Amino acid sequence: MQILLSSIINHNRKYTKEGEVATYIPELSKADKNHLGIYVVTLDGEEYGEGDYNVKFTMQSISKVVTLMLALLDNGPEKLFEKIDMEPTADTFNSISSLETRNPQKPLNPMINSGAIATTSLIYGESSEKKIERILKFTRRITGNKDININYDVFKSEKETGHRNRALAYYMKSTGVIDGDVEDILDAYFMQCSMEVTCKDIARIAAMLANNGLLPWSGERIIPAHYARIVKTIMVTCGMYDESGEFAVKVGIPGKSGVGGGILAAVPNRMGIGVFGPALNKKGNSIAGLKVLEELSRELDLSIF
Ligand code: GLU
Repeated sequence: MQILLSSIINHNRKYTKEGEVATYIPELSKADKNHLGIYVVTLDGEEYGEGDYNVKFTMQSISKVVTLMLALLDNGPEKLFEKIDMEPTADTFNSISSLETRNPQKPLNPMINSGAIATTSLIYGESSEKKIERILKFTRRITGNKDININYDVFKSEKETGHRNRALAYYMKSTGVIDGDVEDILDAYFMQCSMEVTCKDIARIAAMLANNGLLPWSGERIIPAHYARIVKTIMVTCGMYDESGEFAVKVGIPGKSGVGGGILAAVPNRMGIGVFGPALNKKGNSIAGLKVLEELSRELDLSIF
């Protein structure tokens, strides 16, 4: 495995030259586009890292997987899917249009920004501090990494420039999708996106999902198996923005990307994978990261289809 990962990282490094790091959140533009790393956690206890797997990046949309799990634990699927749908979309991740045109007017799924903000609003905790405390605690428990924290420069940058997310949230307040203080809910959302991790951390979250909700290294149950199934299914249909269909064809693994350049991929009953490469394509996915996953999936026959 180590030799395979090393060769995959080496010959896909050329793709780090393509695409651009995200700039719409100004702080993210400081990322080094040459970085490329992978970490694999197998369900039989092996772990392998190659390339820049120790470099920290912010979770961004990958955090939506964590908050979906926590919101499911807090509310159960019935209440959650009363507010947020489970349908894929070919619209962009921050699209506002369907919020008005659909009937009922609920966000399409928990992986696009509107649905993720609504999901965060459902997490228990009477303030953003309380919510983020619980989100951090949950993330640290799954990853076993007590040092996971918020990158406050990224948080500040998102809060100052996140007008589209603000618009989505106020719109959803007007239609009754979210209750409570909109700015406070947005603070919790911006903070969850600004949680700083490495490939290892996201590979561990993926391994727990791959293992149907149990931590493979300790046997501790984090979520019920049927919640893990819901989360993986939504990752397949909605996890890679409006490129989820192509990802299903080319890679075929439940995945979730973020504009920080990370991709979390959970191969059911086999392994969790974390990939990082900050240069993105137009849809917001890591170009080199996609190439790495495509090759690994082909080499190890990982597609679930
Ligand atoms: N914090 C980012 C936003 O809300 C997350 C987007 C992403 O990773 O797709 O715009």
